[in-house]
Amino acid sequence: MLLRHTTAKEIDRKALTINPAKTCQPIGAMYAALGFHGCLPHSHGSQGCCAYHRSALSRHFREPIMAGTSSFSEGSSVFGGQANLVQAIDTMFTVYNPEVIAVHTTCLSETIGDDMLAIISKADEDGCIPKGKSVIYCNTPSYVGTHVTGYSNMVTSFVKNFATATPKKRNVINLVAGWMEPSDMAEIKRLAKVMEARTLMFPDMTGVLDAPLDGHYKMYPKGGTTLEEMKLSGDSKFTIGLGPMTTEAACIQMDNKCKVKFEVIDIPIGFKATDRFLMSLSRHANVPIPEELSDERGQLIDLISDSARHLYGKRVALWGDPDTLVPLTEFLVSMDMKPVYIVSGTASKYFDEKMPVILKDIPEAKFMCGERADMFRMHQWIKQEGVDLLIGNTYGKYIARDEDTPFVRFGFPIADRPGHNYFPKTGYKGAANLLTQMVDAMLDKFDRVCDEEKVEFQM
Ligand code: SF4
Repeated sequence: MLLRHTTAKEIDRKALTINPAKTCQPIGAMYAALGFHGCLPHSHGSQGCCAYHRSALSRHFREPIMAGTSSFSEGSSVFGGQANLVQAIDTMFTVYNPEVIAVHTTCLSETIGDDMLAIISKADEDGCIPKGKSVIYCNTPSYVGTHVTGYSNMVTSFVKNFATATPKKRNVINLVAGWMEPSDMAEIKRLAKVMEARTLMFPDMTGVLDAPLDGHYKMYPKGGTTLEEMKLSGDSKFTIGLGPMTTEAACIQMDNKCKVKFEVIDIPIGFKATDRFLMSLSRHANVPIPEELSDERGQLIDLISDSARHLYGKRVALWGDPDTLVPLTEFLVSMDMKPVYIVSGTASKYFDEKMPVILKDIPEAKFMCGERADMFRMHQWIKQEGVDLLIGNTYGKYIARDEDTPFVRFGFPIADRPGHNYFPKTGYKGAANLLTQMVDAMLDKFDRVCDEEKVEFQM
């Protein structure tokens, strides 16, 4: 009974968030930066911020997360962090030799008003940036936006600093990956490969945050989008952004800078969103959708059909980020489930526009995004009328325990279960994986609590 004080009665709150369904901007910026090969993220602020961001990512991926910090003291908090950052850039290139340092700001450096461009220029003038190496930055004040905003800002900064248009156009489609697991990115790249479409994904955490354990520590694992590929992305013939909140700004930047047209679609979670992704890629890369993928789709539909009686009408509560919640909700509705409570701590026009359409036939559904859409509110809704299944990150485990509700872990962070970075949730195979977890969780509970005479061998 960890959350035993939660009451069913909601009180209108205007200035209080309890157990927010989000985390802070720099975590997203740090995660995005790790998707570029040879990149060392750097947190311009106090050590505490950097330690928190690194540990949040380390706990989720169970991998070492390397990043620098400007280590603000009382002095830098008053007079600004220029001296610390210039020194840090010099030390990092000397000791750790990255290809690029990706600096993100923090609440403190933003409040001081540090001019990042001026500081990086000063480091260059002082000879702290070796020839052929780069330092880029993005602003990530965490008192606005969330980890989703930070991710978007860093991806956009990479486009701004590296994408270059030349007269030599390439028959390649840029895939801008929204916030997802390395396994999801690997699955999307596999789908593109099966279609024989030439694609360039960025950022790309495969081979970085799912790197094999081979007994040798590598500061910069072999994966990630290279800076050379990022430069070439400006010559691609089209860009597909996967997830409006995390990729649209980068797509617009690419179009403005390199005149590469774009389309932003949902992350391919569930069969409808996967259909849209494959059709978009087929159209823009001018390649057919092969039978192999039609068969994968058919297998998913077969699995849905086999599971239909366990799914029909089941009430689900979910929380996370708009880019994943929207296609996930659509997937649940398409299987005749009832996503009745949905919260995201990230304020999103995309969420606000899409959810009423997807949930139009479920009048009892409650959904909310922004600062007041917190886990406490979701728990109050569940107290008012229970659900059959919870889907979200580890912060929901306390609700799952108190309410004895089946729980499928999905999103960020997942700090209490390993393996999520190896098994995709995207594509048809990922949807089958997710569906199996949902059915297993609900049937496990049934087997555990049902009367003895109702325990069945065949279900
Ligand atoms: S002070 Fe700001 S940047 Fe630092 S951990 Fe807290 S919210 Fe994040």
